[in-house]
Formats: sequence, C-alpha cells, structure tokens
Amino acid sequence: SAKKLGRNCYQFFEDSMNEEAQERLRIESALRNALVRQEFVLHYQPQLDLATGAIVGVEALLRWQHPELGMVAPQRFIGLAEETGLIVPIGAWVMRTACAQAQAWRAAGLPPLRMAVNLSARQFAQPDLVQSIAAVLAETGLPPACLELELTESLFVDDVARAVALLHELKNLGVALSIDDFGTGYSSLSYLRTFPIDVLKIDRTFVGQIDGDSDQAAIVVSIIALAHNLQLKVIAEGVETAEQLAFLRAHECDQVQGYYFSRPVPAEEFAALAQATASGVAALASA
Ligand code: C2E
Ligand code: MG
Ligand code: MG
Ligand code: MG
Repeated sequence: SAKKLGRNCYQFFEDSMNEEAQERLRIESALRNALVRQEFVLHYQPQLDLATGAIVGVEALLRWQHPELGMVAPQRFIGLAEETGLIVPIGAWVMRTACAQAQAWRAAGLPPLRMAVNLSARQFAQPDLVQSIAAVLAETGLPPACLELELTESLFVDDVARAVALLHELKNLGVALSIDDFGTGYSSLSYLRTFPIDVLKIDRTFVGQIDGDSDQAAIVVSIIALAHNLQLKVIAEGVETAEQLAFLRAHECDQVQGYYFSRPVPAEEFAALAQATASGVAALASA
C-alpha cells in the first residue's frame, strides 16, 4: 500500500541520515586526533607568471592521510573543522608548516617564491590572528613579503569595519593579500577600492568554461580589466587546457595556476619542479 511504501521511504531516509550522521561523527573524532597523530600534509601547487613562464608563487593545500579513511580531500573535512573550531589549531599548523617550507626553499637557493596560505572564516575571527602570523614569521625567519594570505569574500560580510581594520593590520605586517574564488561569493565591488588587496584569483568555474561558453569568457575578461583598473594582479585558477592558457594570455592575465602546469604535489616534487622550471626559463632568456 501507499502507506507502507511511505513508511519504507521514511525508514530509508532515516537510515541514510543515520549513515550521514555516523560518517560525520567518525570524521569528527578522527579529526580531533589527526594533528597529534601527524596525519596532515601540505601539497604545493605552482603559480606561473604568464609573461615569463617563471614560477613566482605556490599555494599550500591541505591533505589528510588517515590510516583507515585513506586520503581525505579538504572538501570532506574543512567544513566540519570550521564548525567544530578545529580549523584554528589545524590552520595554525598549516601556517607554520608552509612558512617553514618557504624559508627552507629560500635557504636551499630555490628561485624566489611567494607562499600562498588559505585562511578560513574561523581563523579570520580569532582576536590574535595578526600576532599569531607575526609570531610564525619571526619564528621561521620568512620575510613577510614572501607570504600571501588567501581570503574569500564571505569573510567580509559579517563586520565590514572590522574586516577593513584587520586587513590593514595584516598589510602593515608586510604580507600580501588575495581574494580567492573571486566572482563566486557575495561580491560588493565597492569593497575592492577600500580593502588593501593585492591579488584577485579568478575562480576556476569561470576559467573552466572559457572555451565553451562566451558568457564565462566575458566574465573572465571583465575580472581581468577590473583588477588592472584597480592596480591589482590577477591569477586564473584551474587552468587545464592550452586553449584556456591562450585565452588568458591574449587578455593579459598576470598569473596562472592549474593542472595544465601541475597538480598540487608533495614538497620534494615541488622543489624539483621549481628548479627545472627556473633552468628552463634561464635557458629561454639566454637563447
Ligand atoms: P582553493 O583555495 O580555491 O584551492 C584551489 C583548489 O582547486 C584546490 O583543491 C586545487 O587542487 C584545485 N585545483 C587547482 N588546479 C586545478 C585544475 O586545473 N582543475 C581542477 N579541477 N582543480 C584544480 P583542493 O586542494 O581540493 O582544496 C579545495 C579547497 O579546500 C581550497 O580551495 C580551499 O578552499 C580549501 N583548503 C585547502 N587547503 C586549505 C587550508 O590549509 N586551509 C583552509 N582554510 N582551507 C583549505
Ligand atoms: Mg586558495
Ligand atoms: Mg580558489
Ligand atoms: Mg575555494
């Protein structure tokens, strides 16, 4: 009967809710232990200057290698880490590890790079954010200009006045600031004038569709023009094809990042890639 069917559906719904809740609980309790068990690792993805082909930056991207769950992608745990507040100690670990790595690469003679680190809303809300970043810079010896903080537009909506003040404090440290996933969030164009931002990162949903969809292409062209009119640099994320690269080059995008050049890779692999690219660029320049 329909009634019985309804009950079965409800039962099914309840079971899948339970499964989802259980999965969440499992991940949450595993997440609590992940830091002490040293299960996190950073992978690094190059950012290239379009005019020279040189690697000028690198984004640190968090990975979680759980002994039973396997490699857990950030999308599966960053939200939960944010809700539980665990993102604060995890984010502090990311900041320390990324800055120490950048300083180690400088000491090893790698070409100069800016290390980009993602900041979450919860981290942005910490009253000691500026001091904690200053402490990491002092502790690792990384020059502030070698660090870039990636922020999303969602961080600015709650309290614009606080956000502006905080961004100025961060700028006063000497670090660079970028807006990640630009164009996907709440975009008030007016804040771009008043916020001390250095870089716009065009979200990969726009970049991924520039070969097919002329509306997306128009958006990419507009973001590049907007950035340049405001004296900001612009990076295209998620570049996967030669066609996308050619389009971005034709429209004078400053930098590119994406699988076309490299996926995010472990530190040793990144160092080899950066060395090889630097010799390639030098050979090109002297040819
Ligand atoms: P995001 O900051 O926008 O990072 C870029 C994401 O795009 C990365 O995914 C990267 O692997 C992926 N990507 C890069 N190039 C391509 C491409 O050509 N094609 C495609 N399809 N994808 C590409 P990932 O590493 O899975 O990270 C996802 C998100 O998780 C990040 O997006 C960021 O929001 C968050 N996240 C990662 N690491 C951290 C962290 O240390 N702290 C915080 N708060 N968030 C992080
Ligand atoms: Mg990012
Ligand atoms: Mg992004
Ligand atoms: Mg993102």
